[in-house]
Amino acid sequence: EQLANQIAAGEVVERPSSVVKELVENAVDAGSTTIDIVIEEGGLTLVRVTDNGSGIDADDIEKAFFRHATSKLSSSKDLFRIASLGFRGEALPSIAAVAKVECVSAVDTSGLGKRLVIEGGTIRNVEDANTPQGTDIAVRDLFFNTPARLKYMKSIQTEIGHIADYVNRLALAHPGIAFTLKHNGNVLLRTLGTGDRLQAFAAVYGTTAAKAMLIVSGDHPDYTLSGYISKPEQTRANRNGITIVVNGRYIKSYIINQAILQAYHTLLPINRFPMIVLELGMHPSLLDVNVHPSKMEVRFSKEAELRQFVEECVAKALGKQRH
Ligand code: ADP
Ligand code: MG
Repeated sequence: EQLANQIAAGEVVERPSSVVKELVENAVDAGSTTIDIVIEEGGLTLVRVTDNGSGIDADDIEKAFFRHATSKLSSSKDLFRIASLGFRGEALPSIAAVAKVECVSAVDTSGLGKRLVIEGGTIRNVEDANTPQGTDIAVRDLFFNTPARLKYMKSIQTEIGHIADYVNRLALAHPGIAFTLKHNGNVLLRTLGTGDRLQAFAAVYGTTAAKAMLIVSGDHPDYTLSGYISKPEQTRANRNGITIVVNGRYIKSYIINQAILQAYHTLLPINRFPMIVLELGMHPSLLDVNVHPSKMEVRFSKEAELRQFVEECVAKALGKQRH
């Protein structure tokens, strides 16, 4: 079990941003409306995520740190129609195998909750705790017991860069959630959680960029699409300004990126990329999210059709602007 956890840990926990990703996804899955993320030293000394979601039942808090103890999946068929972000029940045990974790949680406002301390996969303490509704997980000294892995970590600047990029995208994907991201005491991101996606965009990229966005929308028997795209003169030097959300999940998709860039074809200076936040809706049977352990890549069953639809919608939005 300990070994299985360490092996899984290698897959799930590559670097501090993986910890942030797993904890924040759990907070989203728990229906939270506020998620506070506190990072110290690029996440190597502390990643702490506090949410106001449904919490972990006192009787289940130890179980949450056992492998495959997910509460989110009832049959393997569900893998194909998954709506929640996490579903493999590997994240918490994997993180706990390679760090020192303190988890405090309560399922209601009674103030009755539990605190669990687990280090390197060994439970150190479980006790009653007076805590507000929601979950507060602090992950300290990541890779303290796997020095070889620790050596591979890049600079603090690089690690916080990965973390900020991820949290920014998630904030865009979930404009109804108020996110705060702090690093070494500095606020890197604060969104209001009003549900206004353009407002979330402004929090991430600035109000000037937000003012220069065009609305994109489209309808199709299989898909719905809505969001914002930048005018061709408002570009960036990399693709990090492109955020794709499918059925409420932030995902990565080569196919959709290609469709977008194709629509901008000839409009963009060389090596410049647009800023985009696109939300796609489709029946869950049209996508498979279980392609990669990190669960970011998805595969679509009607790729060509989807690609054409996205390209047409983006081109239409760009065309309107030129007239
Ligand atoms: P998964 O997300 O794949 O189910 P995890 O290891 O990430 O597995 O989490 C294990 C379980 O712990 C979840 O299924 C959920 O029941 C519970 N859990 C974890 N984090 C939270 C949270 N922030 N709020 C409520 N429940 C949580
Ligand atoms: Mg999870």
